[in-house]
Amino acid sequence: MKEKNYPGRVITHYGNQLEVEILDGPLAGLTQRCHQKGNTSRLVTGDLVTCRPGSTNTGVIISQSDRINAFGRFDSGGKFKPLASNLDCVLVVIAATPKAYINLVDRYLVALRKLELDAFLLLNKVDLIDENKDQSLQRMLQIYGDLGYPILKVSAKSGIGFEALGRQLAGQTTVLVGQSGVGKSSLINRLGSYKSAKVGNLSQTKYKGTHTTTTTRLYHLKNFDLIDSPGVREFSLTKVTKQEILSGFPEIQSLATNCKFRDCSHRGEPYCAIREGLKSGVVFQERYDSYQNILGNLD
Ligand code: GDP
Ligand code: ZN
Repeated sequence: MKEKNYPGRVITHYGNQLEVEILDGPLAGLTQRCHQKGNTSRLVTGDLVTCRPGSTNTGVIISQSDRINAFGRFDSGGKFKPLASNLDCVLVVIAATPKAYINLVDRYLVALRKLELDAFLLLNKVDLIDENKDQSLQRMLQIYGDLGYPILKVSAKSGIGFEALGRQLAGQTTVLVGQSGVGKSSLINRLGSYKSAKVGNLSQTKYKGTHTTTTTRLYHLKNFDLIDSPGVREFSLTKVTKQEILSGFPEIQSLATNCKFRDCSHRGEPYCAIREGLKSGVVFQERYDSYQNILGNLD
């Protein structure tokens, strides 16, 4: 057994060591501490690897697979720093409180577009929503719904919407982003109570049910995986080009080719398809404002 190699997935880091879940064979579902040879590139949570477990001590990473995609940030020099990899979906969490802003959601959507990651909106704390009173929230939901962004509505407190959420997450690796206080930890805790992954005797750390995010970690739950990461939670939009911003606003992007001037700023030029779209209601004023705001803050 000691000599055999197994496929695994990186769960988290402990200094120079990695915790790897074995994905196949007699050890499947167990986690193993492994060290990485110096000549392989730095691994992140979610990476798929081949490892050779040690029967009593740490194992070793033999090789790593190419990443399908990665979530990360761009440093000041524009270099990409991955935080988590092989993701199927990113849940952009908003809530009744703290108040949700279109501009903040759009910043996430632009950043996720740039990373070529699929985004879903998740509205948490529906138990607190008074549909008649929360008009700006209702308007926001209407806008994103009309634009074709799927929206899940849940309450981490009452459990409303968790069946649909479970269907969305099934078989996928998902990360949650959203401003502090929207309920990301509460959602993960509630989802964590469905845990059924084996935590084996090779493992030294167990999921304890109370959730704190100090390090990036993959939670292998009932039939899905969640990755929680302080860096992912707190990410902000950096190092984007005008074109990348436009890609986050597909309804504006598709019209922009019809503007008379190729370099139209859509701020008052004649024969501007975007401003016509605003008049006819094809473009939402809120999204237009948000687009201009993000452009205005280009770094
Ligand atoms: P995070 O900062 O995004 O991880 O948010 P937390 O999970 O720490 O939640 C922030 C606060 O919102 C806590 O006081 C939670 O108890 C509360 N909260 C989370 N989800 C819900 C919900 O669905 N309904 C209500 N009423 N409160 C919630
Ligand atoms: Zn224009």
